[in-house]
Amino acid sequence: MAFFEMAKTAIRSFVGKPATRRYPFVPGKVTPLSRGHVTIDVASCISCGMCMKKCPSEAICVNKDEKTWTIDRLRCIVCNSCVEVCPVHCLTMDTVYSPAVTTHSGLEVFHITYVKPEKPPKADSVDENKEQA
Ligand code: SF4
Ligand code: SF4
Repeated sequence: MAFFEMAKTAIRSFVGKPATRRYPFVPGKVTPLSRGHVTIDVASCISCGMCMKKCPSEAICVNKDEKTWTIDRLRCIVCNSCVEVCPVHCLTMDTVYSPAVTTHSGLEVFHITYVKPEKPPKADSVDENKEQA
């Protein structure tokens, strides 16, 4: 009995349409809710580092000294966390179809223009330092 069930499924799969799309030869269906890849508006970024802290796959690196925002596309799992957490909404999820890749093309580096100044030390800690000196 199990054999006939299996044969029926095999024949149905053989003559029917494939259950999956022939990616990457056939582009995936894109809807307004599709997640493609993360893009940044470098002019709006305030280098707060929230996206880097929230990224579960450590795909983003914000370097204040070098004024860069870097993403490793092959580490990104397209979870959208960085887009949701960015306080100035300079990250967006692009829905453009990206072809499959077989080699790592390296990190994508973007140069940001504004670097958030470090917070001045609290008054209490300044007083403590004076007492110790
Ligand atoms: S992209 Fe947004 S969250 Fe990330 S460092 Fe820039 S301002 Fe902050
Ligand atoms: S979409 Fe998710 S995995 Fe990709 S860079 Fe943003 S937080 Fe990281």
